[in-house]
Amino acid sequence: MTASTVDGPIAGAVAEGTLPGRVWMYANYHCNIACVYCLTESGPRVAPRVLDAQAMLDVARQAAELGFTDLGVTGGEIFLRPEMPDLLAEISRHLPVIALTNATLFQRRLLDRIDVLAGLPVALQISLDRPDADANDAMRAPDNFAKVVAAIPELVARGISVRIATTVESIDDVELDRLCALHRGLGVPDEDHVIRPIVARGRAIDHGLGVGAVVTDLPAELTITADGAFWSPFGPTVHGGLLDTDLLITRTTAPLSVPAKALLRLVEGQPRGADSALNIR
Ligand code: SF4
Repeated sequence: MTASTVDGPIAGAVAEGTLPGRVWMYANYHCNIACVYCLTESGPRVAPRVLDAQAMLDVARQAAELGFTDLGVTGGEIFLRPEMPDLLAEISRHLPVIALTNATLFQRRLLDRIDVLAGLPVALQISLDRPDADANDAMRAPDNFAKVVAAIPELVARGISVRIATTVESIDDVELDRLCALHRGLGVPDEDHVIRPIVARGRAIDHGLGVGAVVTDLPAELTITADGAFWSPFGPTVHGGLLDTDLLITRTTAPLSVPAKALLRLVEGQPRGADSALNIR
């Protein structure tokens, strides 16, 4: 099935640009590190809040059936789930996938298992914020920089699509030039490098970081979690150990048509010109 063969209100809204084509899934909330700006207060000791494999496969299949065009998988660190390489491969049979990762778990065993993604429509989007280890690791974790710059060429050499995401409050031209030279040298071209702001949700609030974001700043990208469906991947954030629900659409996530149609009704209620300015992609 392709988007052009799908009828219905969601397919129509996606085709005309009323509704973004991507559906996000939060695979889990736990992480092996604890970045200072993490939207979800993820870390080694937080509740995993896992969206189980069957639920993720159902979202992927139903998203394609409804007329969405792309999928995103985020967390937490998604590769803490051992089944993730095979699960991403399965999911990508329905729609192309971007999967966000900190790329710090790609030692030999995981690299061997990640081979299953070679040549598939799965892009791993890897966080790399600064061209220097000290500045990068200060916001993320000790040895983060070294692990990331080691992992990226290994993944590229395996034929796996890699994107770089830089999350910063600001970066000057000289530092950005050095960062871009670094990612090109690692095998990632400019078109696969995204720069995005820190958003003042989650742990960023406690560090006085980030820009404020209200609903009209955020693309209406349907986001499915174990706790419900949200307006945006910036919605199901955590602060003070509690899930934020200001961008919750509905606790009902299955069938996917329920939150999808609820989101479409909300989008259609937005005033014209209320274009969103932030994105997680
Ligand atoms: S920003 Fe990503 S890598 Fe950092 S703690 Fe949060 S989930 Fe983990």
